[in-house]
This record gives sequence, structure tokens and C-alpha cells, in this order.
Amino acid sequence: MLQQQYVELAELAGGFIHEIKNHLSTLGLNLQLLAEDFGEPQSQRERRSFDRIQRLQGECGRLVDISNDFLRFARVKDLERQPAHLDALIEEMVDFFGPTARQANVEIKVYLPGDLPPVLLDQDLFKQALLNLLLNAQQAMAGGGELTIQAVREPDWLVLCLIDTGKGMTEEVQSKIFRPFFSTRPGGSGLGLPTVRKIVEAHGGTIGVESEVSRGTKFTIRLPIPSAGVNGSGKGTSVETIANLNGKQMPLAEVMVPALDRGFLFGDAVYEVIRISKGKPFLMAEHMHRLARSLDAIRIAGVDLRRMEQRIRETITAGQYQEATVYIQVTRGAGLKRTHAFPAQATPLELFWVQEFVDPYVEARQHGASVTVVPDIRWDRCDIKSTNLLANVLAAQTAKDKQCVEAIFIEKDGTLSEGSHTSLFGVLDGQLLTAPNSNAILPGITRGLVLKLAERAKIPLREHVFKHADLPKISELFLTGTTSEVLPVVRVDDQQIGDGKPGPVTRRLQEAYQQAVNEAAG
Ligand code: PLP
Repeated sequence: MLQQQYVELAELAGGFIHEIKNHLSTLGLNLQLLAEDFGEPQSQRERRSFDRIQRLQGECGRLVDISNDFLRFARVKDLERQPAHLDALIEEMVDFFGPTARQANVEIKVYLPGDLPPVLLDQDLFKQALLNLLLNAQQAMAGGGELTIQAVREPDWLVLCLIDTGKGMTEEVQSKIFRPFFSTRPGGSGLGLPTVRKIVEAHGGTIGVESEVSRGTKFTIRLPIPSAGVNGSGKGTSVETIANLNGKQMPLAEVMVPALDRGFLFGDAVYEVIRISKGKPFLMAEHMHRLARSLDAIRIAGVDLRRMEQRIRETITAGQYQEATVYIQVTRGAGLKRTHAFPAQATPLELFWVQEFVDPYVEARQHGASVTVVPDIRWDRCDIKSTNLLANVLAAQTAKDKQCVEAIFIEKDGTLSEGSHTSLFGVLDGQLLTAPNSNAILPGITRGLVLKLAERAKIPLREHVFKHADLPKISELFLTGTTSEVLPVVRVDDQQIGDGKPGPVTRRLQEAYQQAVNEAAG
């Protein structure tokens, strides 16, 4: 209902602006004629009139500009999205904008990886948004400067950043810039950035801004990468994420969890992530076993895991998933009110969903990744796979801020225990080391498999910790995890590991791991 009212109002406003524009064009034309009449003023009075006519012409032009901006803003509705390569589109825009930028002493630097996946774009509209941002950046750098355009791929998103070295914005201005009719520029309609945001959001994306006065501004646009990929011919398929809440199947977007659910309120819940490879869940028994252990550890009873496993298998078949992940979460359920101690009668909430997996680690697995080290501020039961992940979340964000793939926890005695969502292995004096299972780490399922594979490959092995101080002697380092698999690490903060390339033990285990996946998939 509200939506319909909005559409009607928007149409009415659009029609109104069109009408005004017609009259404005008559006004403009007549002012033009008047200006020509007074073009060579003979007297003081004529000069004053000529000045006034010019001012009126300016105002009239401004009204036309605002009307056009308004219509552009209102028109962002029905997109015609086609698979498109953002890198080509950016290059086209930079070519187009280059001369303007050069004139304004703005140097444009473009960093685009060669393997960006296609995204669904209404190219005309998206170019309009980009142009708006380019112009904004140029205006922010009145005396010239540098504009960096870069794109990176995240698992589900293509992330595009435009970074200028301009005058920047205060926090107050940043909080308002996407509001219609807010402008810091005299004569600005205040519709440029709201239109950009509308265009990005109409593509299912988001736009954010970070800015510092006198340093510059960074706009970050995130565009969804269609699942299952979109090929160049536009025949992409996307597999829906199917969820199951307490036995009821539904799209993930329709899952509703009660506000009193203890998972939501207290993190009173445990979870699992299972990889589906070539249509088959990998190491499912091991994951379900760990789930049973976690449930037991936090005293959640009455969950039929065999029934859950059956439901998961049915969902994988129904959705015809090939490369995917299953996320499972079981909470203690909802009490009648919020109290810390367990409610007398709460039925556990059982949720899982199956989601297509686009592997974000392909390149890192090949060339090695960088990690950072953060103090371990977690609790004393890291062996329970609970959803209380705040310390892990903060650690992972620190890693991301430093453009690292993972953060490694360091204990008070200097031990490197594990990653925020991975297990850690190192090769020291020819021996493969990893922390022994204890309360201090999660008993990683991939860790367990890799230990078996190492044993089979007769790689000397010891479940023993190593320390940060050992890093100069460590010849190889790698992470393991359900989605990261065997992921070489070639740099820890400023320290290079070994010769800076994935080492032979890591390579052998990567191969053995792949073989195990292939065998399991038949
Ligand atoms: N360590 C932590 C803290 C984790 O959160 C995870 C996975 O999420 C792992 C290790 C790796 O465990 P797995 O191999 O079972 O995915």
C-alpha cells in the first residue's frame, strides 16, 4: 500500500517537474531574447537591466539543472541489467573523463585485477553514477590531486573504491551527503549522491563513505556477484539459498527468529559449517559429531541430529547444489522472558541453510596469503564451536583492515594457537607442528584430516605448539579450514615466511587434500 502511494507520488512529482521544465524553457528563451536586446547597454539603466536579465538566466538555468537532476533521481526504477565487465566500463569512463581530469590537475590511477567476475549492470545508469562520483572527486580536489580507482573481489561482492586526496568531509557532512537536497556546494541540487546511492541500491548493492578533512574521501561501492556466475553471454543461473527452520523449508530471506531466542540474546547457540563438493557434503559425519559434542558441552538436549542430517541431504538434492556450504545453527530456543539461566521449557531452535559457494581463496591458495597476529582475548572454552564469536569477529576485521586474509591469535606466552576461523600449522626443523587439541583451540575438522594425510604421506609430525619467536626459523606456515582448505601463509605482519612462497610440505598436503575431496565425491 505504502509502496503504491510512493509510486503514485513519484509519478505525480515527475509529471509536475516536466510541466515546470516546459515553462522554464519558454522563460529561458524569452530571457535569451531580452539579453540580446540589452546586449549593448546604452545607459546606466540598460546596464542594470542587462545584469538582472543575466541573473535571471542563471537562476533559470539552475532550475533546469535541478529539474533534470530530480528526473534522473526519480527515474531510477526499472533497470535493464545485463552481465557486464566492470573493468571495461571503468576504463571507458576514465577515458571519457580523462581530459576533464587533466585540465583540473587530477591524476587518475586505476588498479583492477584481471579476473574480476562479470556483474549484472544497467550500464547507462551505472555510468551515470560513476560519472557523478568522478565529478564529485574532481570538485573536492580544487587545486588538483590524485584519484585512485580500485576494485577487488570478495566472496559474494565486487568491491569498487574511489579514493580522492581532496578536502574531505566532516562526520556531520558525511552523515548527510546521501540525503536528497543536501549540498555543500553553492548551486548544487543535492541530488547527485542520492541518485548515485539509488542507482547502486537498485543493483542490489551498497555504497559507503569514509572521509577525513584535508586528507580525502573514499567511496566504496559493493555490487553483488551473481551466484553460479554470470557468463559473458548472459545465460547465468543463480541458485537460491534454501533454509530450513525447525524442519520447515523456506528461502533464507524468509527465516524469522523470535526476539527472545537465546542465540540472538546471549549467543547461547552452537554452529557448524560443512562444505559441499561436487554435490556431496564433505566430512559430514565428522562435522555432525562435533556438533553433538558442542551441544553436549553447553547442555542443549533433545536435538535429533540424524533427522537434521537427513534434512540437509534432502535440501542439497532438492537445490541441486554442486559447490556449496551448509551453515547449521542450533540455539537453546526462546524463553518467556530474558533471563540468563536456562529457561525451564525451551525447545531448541534448529536452523540450517545451503548456499552456493564461490571460492574466495583460489589465488591465495596458489601464491600464499598474508596474516596478522592479534592477542587472544577469547574465553577458556574455544573448543566449543559456539556462536559467541565477538573476539573472532574483531580479529578478522583487524586482518581485513590490514589487507590480510586471517588473524592469528597469540597467547600470553607467545604461542600462536590458531586463526580467527582457521587452524594453524607450521614446519619447524623439518617437522610439521600444530597446537594439540585442548580448551584453547577448536578441534578443526580440516585439521583432523590434514593430520591424517600428513601421517599417510610420512611427513614428520608433532601436535605441539610453536611461538611467535619461532617465526624466523619456521620454513612453512599454513592454515586449514572447511572453506579455506589448505591455505599457505607467506607473510606474518612484516615477517616473510621461508622464501616467501608456499613450501613443499604445504604443496603436498594441498594435493593430498584435493585427492581426498575427489575421492569423497566419487
Ligand atoms: N579454528 C576456529 C577458531 C574456527 O572458527 C574454525 C572454523 O570456523 C577452524 C579453526 C577450522 O575448523 P574447520 O576445519 O572445522 O572448519
